[in-house]
Amino acid sequence: PVATNHVPGAGDANGEAEQDEKELSAAEQSLLRKKLSNQLVATKADLEILQKDPNSPLYSVKSFEALNLKPELLKGVYEMGFNSPSKIQETALPTLLADPPMNMIAQSQSGTGKTAAFVLTMLSRVDTSKPYTQCICLSPTFELALQTGKVTEQMAKHMTSLKVCYAVRGERVSRGQKIDSHIIIGTPGTLLDWCIKFKVIDMKRVDVFVLDEADVMIATQGHQDQSIRIQKTLRKDCQMLLFSATYEQDVMQFAKAVVPNPVIISLRREEESLSNIKQYYINCKDKEAKFQALSNIYGAITVGQSMIFCHTRRTAAWLCEKMIAEGHAVALLSGELTVEQRAAVIERFRDGKEKVLITTNLSARGIDIEQVTVVVNFDLPVNTQHQADCETYLHRIGRTGRFGKNGIALNFVDGHRSMQILKCIESHFNRAINKLDAEDFDEIE
Ligand code: ADP
Repeated sequence: PVATNHVPGAGDANGEAEQDEKELSAAEQSLLRKKLSNQLVATKADLEILQKDPNSPLYSVKSFEALNLKPELLKGVYEMGFNSPSKIQETALPTLLADPPMNMIAQSQSGTGKTAAFVLTMLSRVDTSKPYTQCICLSPTFELALQTGKVTEQMAKHMTSLKVCYAVRGERVSRGQKIDSHIIIGTPGTLLDWCIKFKVIDMKRVDVFVLDEADVMIATQGHQDQSIRIQKTLRKDCQMLLFSATYEQDVMQFAKAVVPNPVIISLRREEESLSNIKQYYINCKDKEAKFQALSNIYGAITVGQSMIFCHTRRTAAWLCEKMIAEGHAVALLSGELTVEQRAAVIERFRDGKEKVLITTNLSARGIDIEQVTVVVNFDLPVNTQHQADCETYLHRIGRTGRFGKNGIALNFVDGHRSMQILKCIESHFNRAINKLDAEDFDEIE
């Protein structure tokens, strides 16, 4: 994800005040992605093995049968609609399930099958005839813990004697109580209380320790230390696993601090590129003129689905109203919506219920909507210093190899400043952005 340097109250290029546009936290973004993803993200990137155990060669599997899972677990996996392991699972699962257990750090973008991989590992290792906790999974938030719990319960549908519980805020335990759940999924703060203050878990009997969403974890104050304190209570030979969507230096450092002698695998995100995008700019004197041009475009050409980016919530709401008045089916994704509301808006758009999605930059961060063919920068992306934000530009209109399709980007320019920004973007990517006449759109048909 792009780093935020958003300062509330900073004006936009038109001198308009930025209206309390709130960016989702890393944890909320992750939750939104989970709520939206119902299938694997396809990727052409190759899995990289960054570190391996010299004594045990890594191998990969092409089927779930090859893993010798308990029949009731295999049944659950198939009932979830998983026919074969995802790219990361092909290599991760044999290592995760190996005996003696190996520690692992795995990085790949969301939607590539990490959760399914570690849930499968916990379920495969747990012995439900023993009435104590054998697996612990740490998640950054209550909501994310519940999300993992859902996957666990689904996959364990036929493991009828399995008990799962949640160590999250609101779940009370009392000193001296012994938890008989085989798997505990929780947040670091509550889990630390359970194991150190209330002593309701015998940490020495835990066989699998999972740290999920490590990148989100380290973005949350206190989680890093709490996770390390929990990890220290475990046996040396407890299997320790860490998963992360990104793999920056700070994540890497944290990962190595909590997971000793790991196998490290990484499936890097495919680079976005502008190579099959036609880029244009249109000169307009002001906001009204931009709207007029937009209206002409939607009238003149058949646009499949499009996204329109505005700098402020106010512009986005204004534009939305104007377009609806013209009879367009428009959805608005903006800063004041909750994660659930955002997920609902995006889902409707994905299902084609609306053809146009108007959004602000911050609201759309990190969301991939594949079927969009036209992207309109109603306002060019700028950072808080009002300089061209090329990274955001690329993310708005760029495509990865997996989407492949051709696309069109339309950039509105209103004056000298925004022309400079456009030139900056053009030279940064070294790809021409051609002028389009606001009256004549034949060229883009
Ligand atoms: P991540 O944890 O990397 O975000 P998930 O494990 O949540 O990825 O998987 C993303 C989506 O793909 C989920 O909807 C999940 O049910 C599905 N999925 C995971 N593994 C497989 C698989 N082997 N085959 C088909 N679908 C899968």
